[in-house]
Parts: sequence; structure tokens; C-alpha cells
Amino acid sequence: MSFNSLGLSDALLKAINKKGYDKPSPIQEKAIPPILEGKDVLASAQTGTGKTAGFTLPLLQILSEGTIKRQRPVRALILTPTRELAAQIFENVKEYSEFLDIRSAVIFGGVNQRPQVAQLRRGVDVLVATPGRLLDLCNQNVLSLSNVEIFVLDEADRMLDMGFVRDIERIIKLIPKKRQNLMFSATFSKDIKRLATGILTHPVSVEATPENTTVEVIKQKVFRVAKAKKTGLIIKMISEGNWQQVLVFTRTKHGANNLTKKMISAGITAAAIHGNKSQGARTKALAGFKDGSIRVMVATDIAARGLDIPLLPHVINFEIPNIPEDYVHRIGRTGRAGASGIAISLVSADETSFLTDIQKLIGMKIPVEIIEGFEPDPNASTEPVKQGGGRRAPRGGGNNNSGRKSTKSSNTSNSGRRSRDRRN
Ligand code: AMP
Repeated sequence: MSFNSLGLSDALLKAINKKGYDKPSPIQEKAIPPILEGKDVLASAQTGTGKTAGFTLPLLQILSEGTIKRQRPVRALILTPTRELAAQIFENVKEYSEFLDIRSAVIFGGVNQRPQVAQLRRGVDVLVATPGRLLDLCNQNVLSLSNVEIFVLDEADRMLDMGFVRDIERIIKLIPKKRQNLMFSATFSKDIKRLATGILTHPVSVEATPENTTVEVIKQKVFRVAKAKKTGLIIKMISEGNWQQVLVFTRTKHGANNLTKKMISAGITAAAIHGNKSQGARTKALAGFKDGSIRVMVATDIAARGLDIPLLPHVINFEIPNIPEDYVHRIGRTGRAGASGIAISLVSADETSFLTDIQKLIGMKIPVEIIEGFEPDPNASTEPVKQGGGRRAPRGGGNNNSGRKSTKSSNTSNSGRRSRDRRN
């Protein structure tokens, strides 16, 4: 199938051509036609599938075919959980609308609101936003959502994980009842289905898994290792393998900082990316990682979510996640676009139950290796690592790192009900 047969306008086809896309991805093929027909769409798709163009292209077409009001009120609202995702979607919106008379803007927290307000005052057709800043600006009467025709809820599962459900409900109350809704989520828990029922009207369901990121095609390995020897092992792997672009996941912000320092001491260029880093620091780290000046990016789950880093050869779980679905998201960063990828997990005794749950979810046993000199500690307890309490995660990417109770919650008994460790 070609983009021409999807019913998109010449202006959009020109922008697509400029991006260099040959043909629509499966999610684009499935989502664009019903969206153009004005239907609500519930899509199962994660980052890497081309979902952003899947909703942005038809949304732009609908808006450009409608009446452009002089005041330019917000007619399409794209809600997304993190600042990075918001910035990336905004970039896409700008690129795809280059040949249209459409104005767009992005708003998120953690930065001065003044430039955002100024831009809103000038009029914006498409607004990309994280929930916190959006509500703040609505409460200040800087922004009205009463003309929204299309509402996109992106990464709905992550929105819920991050505790945004109340904010979403508040936002829904601020937009007109009669509107088109598009909801994207990588996973479909009961909570997501409930949210979808409350938002969407007779939705068309579409589904796409990223072509080369299914767990079957990614080479996965587990290295059993003593907790105290993980840093030594990861440095050895990266140095001896001469790996040049490695995404490393840690469970906590503190862990990410620590590991980054040790990598740098070992002569490996590295940067940490997590919720306590300023927006500028995050953007700089990501740019360095993309251009090759930084070999290792150490990230927490929430910070890494949705980052558009193509062709990643190596993903290492310095600690495996306590939420099995996060493992799938993490390793989905490798092997993109036909490139071969390898996902390595360093697993200490206290992570044994997490590994069992991950293997249950992906339906396969991950091959285990032990490296001489980095053996697991035979005396270490298999009692699971302590997780943070169930506090609400901060808005727009996670900034809160203080005052939590460290509880040994029900994390070991039911993976589906595990709470996210708020320390990331
Ligand atoms: P997304 O899943 O929206 O984050 O997109 C993942 C990556 O795929 C981005 O770098 C897009 O620019 C790229 N992309 C989106 N649609 C296509 C397409 N039809 N052909 C090739 N690349 C695409």
C-alpha cells in the first residue's frame, strides 16, 4: 500500500515525501482511514510503530479541511505523559504541517510558562501538552479548550502508570462532549479499557506491533551476577565489546547517576536521563547520544519512555524492572527498523522473582550466562529488592524524589498489580 491510496491531501503527501517515508507502517494503514472518516479510534501501538504519524496526518487533514477561525482556538488537543514525548510529537506535527496553514504549539511543565502563554495568545490550531501544565494554564484562564474537535490520548497506559487519571478526567470536562477521540496505548489492562469506555464512542479498534521489535526477534540474554559486581561487568561488556551506543536502564534516579559517574571514571562517555534532570540537560543528553558523542545513556523507565532513538544496537537492564510490561518496553528499543539488536539483563539473586514474572509474560525462557569473575553470590538472599511506596508520580516526567516510604509491598505476589517504583 502507498500513502497515496490513504486519501491524504497533496500537502501532506509532500511532507511525507520530504520525511522520506516510502509506505505507511501497519498502524498508519489501519488507523488513518477510520480517523479520516471521523470515527473514534482505539489503537494498540507502542513507540516505534509510526503511531505519531498515524494520528497526526489524518488529524491535520481534518483540521485543514475545516473552517479556520480568525482567533485560532485550539481545535486538536494531543495529550501525552512526558515532556520528551510532547516535544517529539510537536516536532512531527510541525514537519507534517509544513505545507498547510496550521499552527501548532507544545506545552509542558518544568520550564517557564511565559513563552508558552505568548504562543497560545497568538492562536494555535494543534496543541500538544502534558496534563499538568495544560490544567495549570486552563486554571489561569490562559487557555480555553472549548473548541476542541479532536482529542488524542497518547500512551494511555503510561498516563495511568504515572497517576494522571484524575487530570485526564478534569481535562475531559473542559473539552466539548461532541468531538472525535483517538486513544493509543501499548497495553490494555482493565483500567485502560475502563478509561477507553469513558472517553470513546463506538471506537474502531486497530492494532499493530512494531515490525522488528517483537520479543521473538530480539536477542535476549540474562547474566546472573552478584549485585556488587554489576558495575564491573557492565563496564567490561561495553569496553571489551567496543559498544558505541548503549541504552542502560536502572530502577532509580540515584542508581542512574551513580552508574553514569562510574562509567565516566572508566573512560566511557555517559549521561543520565531521568526526572530530576532539567529539560535542558535531558535534551542535551539525548542529542549527544544520538550524534554518537555519548556512548551510554543511563535512563529510568519513565524518562526513557517514548524516546525516538532509532537503530539501537544494545539495551542493557542494569536492574530488571519489577513491572514485567516495562521489560517489553525497554527491550523494544533495540532491533528497530530491521537492525539486529541485543537486550541484556544483569540479574542478581534479589531479582529472581521479577525475572520469573518477565519470562511468564513473554512466554519464553531467556538464556542465562555466567561470566567468570562475575559470578552470582551463592549466599545472597532471593528476597525481592524493596520498592518505593505507592505515591503518585509527578507530573510531566517525574520530578519527585523525596519522602517516600520504602515498603516491601505486595510486589512479589501479583505482577499485574505491582505498583511502579516511584523512584524513577
Ligand atoms: P513513532 O512510533 O511515531 O514514535 O515513530 C517511530 C519512528 O518511525 C519515527 O522516527 C518516525 O519518523 C518513523 N516513521 C513513522 N512513519 C514511518 C513510515 N511510514 N516509514 C518510515 N518511517 C516512519
